[in-house]
Amino acid sequence: MATALTARVITKDDIGPDVVQVDFEMVDPPEIRYEAGQYIILHTAEQNGKVVKRSYSIASPPNSRGFSLCVKVVGVASQFVSDLKSGDQVKFSGPWGMGKFTFPEKTESEIVLVATGTGFSPINSILHSKLAAHPETKFLFLWGLKREQDIYLQNVLDEAAKKHPHFSYRIILSDASPSWPGKRGMLSKVFSDEIGAVDGKEYFLAGNGAMIVRVEGYLKGHGVPVEKIHKEIFFLPAEV
Ligand SMILES: Cc1cc2nc3c(=O)[nH]c(=O)nc-3n(C[C@H](O)[C@H](O)[C@H](O)COP(=O)(O)OP(=O)(O)OC[C@H]3O[C@@H](n4cnc5c(N)ncnc54)[C@H](O)[C@@H]3O)c2cc1C
Repeated sequence: MATALTARVITKDDIGPDVVQVDFEMVDPPEIRYEAGQYIILHTAEQNGKVVKRSYSIASPPNSRGFSLCVKVVGVASQFVSDLKSGDQVKFSGPWGMGKFTFPEKTESEIVLVATGTGFSPINSILHSKLAAHPETKFLFLWGLKREQDIYLQNVLDEAAKKHPHFSYRIILSDASPSWPGKRGMLSKVFSDEIGAVDGKEYFLAGNGAMIVRVEGYLKGHGVPVEKIHKEIFFLPAEV
């Protein structure tokens, strides 16, 4: 069994409809090492005498003093996260997933980051730590959400795009209001139009498993090698 570590809540903010950001500082041990794209397993509420454990991608860039999570409130564990208050202590294990959704040490490829909903978390960590380190690499982020009000932390994306000309992003809404000036549709359906030619690119797909299965199928079907496709499936809906 993995050793449980302890962290303390510094702040919790509501950053979108049903999305909270929680910033933690390490307590025991006092420091943590992680790479952008890794996740932790958080010990949350107790149910039927058992602790409910759930995985959460780290949303902050590597920082030995602590980490941030961005969580969509959908059930018992995420409600536990949403109810956390400054000073509360939590147990967790990790970080996990080294080499799975983490950025390659060397890449000649253009980077295509694709997320639905809070799949933005590991991508946010990658953007914060890798944009400045790879000024010659082109980064594109495609983010699928439902409605305008579901967009959060867009200021972070705007600042990144301003500061790093090699980075651009597009938000695609599946249920936008008539006044939405941006892209519309299901991310998995508009994906091919958005990226154009698939070769010479490395892909990071995070969030809803249905989107990931479809986009991965498209990429593989067009000859993209598996080692160029990194996936972090948060959940798999009943029908994919
Ligand atoms: C590696 C990994 C990293 C993850 N990172 C994150 C993260 O950074 N942020 C985050 O919010 N979740 C993340 N998740 C999902 C998280 O582990 C939980 O599954 C989620 O919080 C739901 O747990 P729950 O007990 O609240 O609800 P449950 O009762 O377990 O789930 C209710 C239903 O909600 C749906 N669901 C689960 N997660 C989401 C979601 N993120 N958005 C919309 N619907 C969802 C599923 O259909 C699920 O059946 C991650 C999962 C994995 C495997």
